[in-house]
Parts: sequence; structure tokens; C-alpha cells
Amino acid sequence: MTCPNGATSPSWKPTLSDGQERMSVLFPRATCRACDDRLKCTGNVDGKGRHILLLPQPLQEIQNRARRDQQTRPWRERYSLRSGCEATVSETVHAHGLRHCRYRGTAKSHVQHVLTAAGTNLIRLHQHQPGNTRTSPATRFTRLCRQTIDRTQTDSC
Ligand code: SF4
Repeated sequence: MTCPNGATSPSWKPTLSDGQERMSVLFPRATCRACDDRLKCTGNVDGKGRHILLLPQPLQEIQNRARRDQQTRPWRERYSLRSGCEATVSETVHAHGLRHCRYRGTAKSHVQHVLTAAGTNLIRLHQHQPGNTRTSPATRFTRLCRQTIDRTQTDSC
């Protein structure tokens, strides 16, 4: 691996990090110590070289490809549908405690999920009442709904 300043790392070593297989990439300490960008790059002040942990090669290649894809317009257009759902799930988890089940058994858990979803809808409806000045910023889901409505109205004209 070559860093932005042209230093190359010697051979990589397999290692474990938090019990997971990783590849350890360590740049030479002497090279990094002499580098003007060391603090910005390594973030450490104790003179160590830049250390990077990567996934095992096949997984790392998948991750790199996915990250490249995420920069493309088609990927973003596809994800725009999902992002609304992700935001809603995030809201129910973080604002309404959906991560933890309050009951035992599938039937009662289902009731909790349904009631949480209904409550989330009520909160959103209240936020969008005319005259309600305490609305939170529009979520991705709300923006997506508005875009869809606008598009529908434009198409029907
Ligand atoms: S600190 Fe090391 S890895 Fe970072 S830019 Fe400098 S030479 Fe490269």
C-alpha cells in the first residue's frame, strides 16, 4: 500500500481485532516520524507509524467496490427510496425504544411494533398540522414523500 506521501508499507500481516480477522498494515515508523503530515495522518503524538486495519482481502475488495458504487448517481437514486425507510427505522429505534422488546412472546412483541409504528405516525401527523410551528426538520422519508407527491402532481398536469 502506498500512502498519499509516497511511503509504502512492508508486507501485511493477518491479525485479530476485537476477535475478528483483519489485515494489519503498518507504515515504517522512521518514514512516518520524518513526515510533515504525521500528526494529521496518524493522529498520534508518540511517534508511531501509520497503522491501518483492513478486512481480509476478499471482504475488503467487496467493501471497496461497494464504496465506489455509493459515489455513483444510479446507486444514490436507488438508495433514496431506502433512505426514507432507514430514517423511519432509526426514529423508532432511537426515539421510541424499538430496539428493546418490553414483552415476551411473538404476539405481544408484534403488538409493541404495531403500537410503536402507530405512535410514530401520530407524532408525524401532529408535526405536519397546519399552524404547528414546532415541527422538526423534515426527515428523509418526509422529503421523499413530498418529492413523490410533487412528481405525481407534475405528471398529472
Ligand atoms: S505519516 Fe506516514 S503514512 Fe502518513 S502520510 Fe506521512 S509517511 Fe505517509
